[in-house]
Amino acid sequence: MTGDVLAEVGQWWGTYVLVALLGLVVGSFLNVVVWRVPRDESIRFPPSACPSCGHQIRSRDNIPVLSWLILGGKCRDCKARISARYPLIELLTGVLFVLVLWQFGLGLEFVAFAYLAAIGVALTAIDLDVHRLPNVIVLPAYVVLAVLLIAQSAVTGDWWPLARAAIGGASLFAFYFLAAILYPGGMGFGDVKLAGVLGIALGWLGWGPLVVGSFAAFLVGGVVGVILLATGRVKRKGGIPFGPWMIVGAAIGVAWGQSLWNAYTGMFT
Ligand SMILES: [Zn+2]
Repeated sequence: MTGDVLAEVGQWWGTYVLVALLGLVVGSFLNVVVWRVPRDESIRFPPSACPSCGHQIRSRDNIPVLSWLILGGKCRDCKARISARYPLIELLTGVLFVLVLWQFGLGLEFVAFAYLAAIGVALTAIDLDVHRLPNVIVLPAYVVLAVLLIAQSAVTGDWWPLARAAIGGASLFAFYFLAAILYPGGMGFGDVKLAGVLGIALGWLGWGPLVVGSFAAFLVGGVVGVILLATGRVKRKGGIPFGPWMIVGAAIGVAWGQSLWNAYTGMFT
């Protein structure tokens, strides 16, 4: 009896450890994506090299987080500094994968939301770097989400979440499309295309997550924008891309959208 419980707990922890490691490895791949996609370079070839001296990164120096710590954040060959953003992106992806597993358990929804977390991390970094949300990352997300969420609906036999996902995607796309036309300086069409993806994911989870996730983007983006402008960290208009706030807002919607929505509507009943 006790042995069974121990085996079960062991299996449970094993799954978490494996998913955390998977997140670290995916995060390491995302570092390659963040560097190469804006430069129109292949993400498969050639193997990673130091941007300063051009030496190929040895596989023993390519272990997520650990290698950076062991090397003291410096290239083994030329001792050029390696940005702390590399291990941080790996760590963040690992943590997000664990949180997704915690919320959804292992299954198709885990795959869908872990995938979203991964492209969310990459798009945030790229948008901060070059103010772009590359189509090559955003557009396939429509196909990936459609396949996974249709499959999940077929498994449960409940097609309503899928209909809600379609409504969520269409309405958030339309809202950002209007915003991009009315205020061309504020939003780009990269934001519009990303809004459709985030609307699908939030709508799949419910109206609460959709509403909270959409508003949170403007709330967080507005507050941070005011702080950055007030402290003089950002001067010129349009110096802050909006994609990262859409992604952070959507993450808030996924994690707390339903409970925040319930609390809010509960105040009036
Ligand atoms: Zn080097």
